[in-house]
Amino acid sequence: SDIGSQKDRVVTEEEWLQKWEMGNIGFHKEQGHPLFQKYLDVLLNGRSGLRIFFPLCGKAVEMKWLADMGHSVVGVEVSEEAVKEFFSDHSLPYCEEPVPEISGAKMFQSTSGNISLYCCSVYDLSSSIVGKFDGVWDRGALVAVNPCDRQRYASLMINLVEKNSSYLLVTVSYDPNKHKGPPFYVPESEIKSLFG
Ligand code: SAH
Repeated sequence: SDIGSQKDRVVTEEEWLQKWEMGNIGFHKEQGHPLFQKYLDVLLNGRSGLRIFFPLCGKAVEMKWLADMGHSVVGVEVSEEAVKEFFSDHSLPYCEEPVPEISGAKMFQSTSGNISLYCCSVYDLSSSIVGKFDGVWDRGALVAVNPCDRQRYASLMINLVEKNSSYLLVTVSYDPNKHKGPPFYVPESEIKSLFG
């Protein structure tokens, strides 16, 4: 379970913005992720009107699906282009407003009010700004976080969830010496030590 040379790799915010600008977004799944469908019941556990968090959300279509089911969705994404593409892909009207607590950040909210996407770094958020969540869909998020930031990321996520919450995490398994990532390889032992 050695993560090899990936441990020191850093992808900057600027590089992520460039990926969106160039349309270099092979991670985006137009039909959603198959594991989302498979484990949706675990996420919801029969409950309605949940608050679900999408860290490093991109323009994940699952946000639209959950909103259509009556849940409220909060996402965070550094790329404003990604956020705008989300709303235009689904023909959803939205408004945008500054976030007083975070300098330079904007919040994009669907006019219906149940999808709020923060355009800033995930590390700018706290429960005093976004509240706590009943569920998290973490796909392309922990595995996209720079390996040196994993501890900080996991502590933040733990802070953002309610006691009775469900956290769905998708990771990838491969030989980290053969691909530089992202997505990065996160050994299961590390997931256990990060989330307890
Ligand atoms: N979860 C999405 C996107 C995965 S790619 C999906 O499943 O499709 C990772 C995304 O995280 C990119 O869109 C990138 O722009 C964004 N990102 C990278 N670092 C971030 C950070 N520190 N805060 C918020 N978003 C970030």
